[in-house]
Amino acid sequence: VYTNLIKLENDPTKMIGLVALMEDVTEIRKLEKIRSDFVANVSHELKTPLTSISGFVETLKSGAIEDEDTKNRFLDIIDIETQRLARLIDDILTLSEIESSQHKMLNQQILSSEVLKEVEEMMEPIASNKEIQLTFTIDTNLPMIYGNRDWFKQMFINLIDNAIKYTLSGGKVQLTAYKKYNNIIISVKDTGIGIPKKDIPRLFERFYRVDKARSRKVGGTGLGLAIVKHIVLSLKGKIRVNSEQGKGTEFTVIIPIEG
Ligand code: ADP
Repeated sequence: VYTNLIKLENDPTKMIGLVALMEDVTEIRKLEKIRSDFVANVSHELKTPLTSISGFVETLKSGAIEDEDTKNRFLDIIDIETQRLARLIDDILTLSEIESSQHKMLNQQILSSEVLKEVEEMMEPIASNKEIQLTFTIDTNLPMIYGNRDWFKQMFINLIDNAIKYTLSGGKVQLTAYKKYNNIIISVKDTGIGIPKKDIPRLFERFYRVDKARSRKVGGTGLGLAIVKHIVLSLKGKIRVNSEQGKGTEFTVIIPIEG
């Protein structure tokens, strides 16, 4: 609490009032903590692939390069780790852009059926590569919504990408989009491994993973759902998760139709 005496200019001895300024520092402290945790996490996440890359380069330089098989195996690992690094940097930049630029083209007309078809075309080869059946059921006359078109698309790329990553071969991933009252409802449902109940509240935190090793194996960065959460917020929407371990998961995005 800051207090200040207000005095008359021509008579500094006379007090005419008192100003008290109160500031809730707990919220500021909390935000500072989130930010510094994020910086620490980012550094750690970037260092992991870098350490691996420099380790394998060193081993190659000190002789492993002579053996053709070993060389190829190590080069493959270096390749995978480099791609992971690139994905991480992309996701960090996307997240900070979405978080910081509150007014960046947030009023574009989005014809969701058109954008979702683009997502389907993009994700279909990835699904069929893993022998997962991908189905999109989109109502034909979905009303226009307003927001950033690229972000809207990114949100469903992330949700479908996760659904494919965490579903075994032979499984199904289904996107359904329809209008209900004044909302557009889009759900992404899979027949995958599911999420334990205790993890659901923390799912949208940056770098939170249910199973770190599995996320790493399937090429996750731990930022996909944090990005989704911020895009949903930019559309003034909501997101719900329904999941059962061993059965599957459903993410439902609810976006209000404005005006
Ligand atoms: P990641 O890059 O690790 O996939 P995300 O932020 O996209 O990070 O997701 C966070 C965690 O939520 C994942 O590591 C995974 O454990 C869990 N998850 C997300 N989507 C699904 C899904 N469809 N099925 C099962 N688990 C999921």
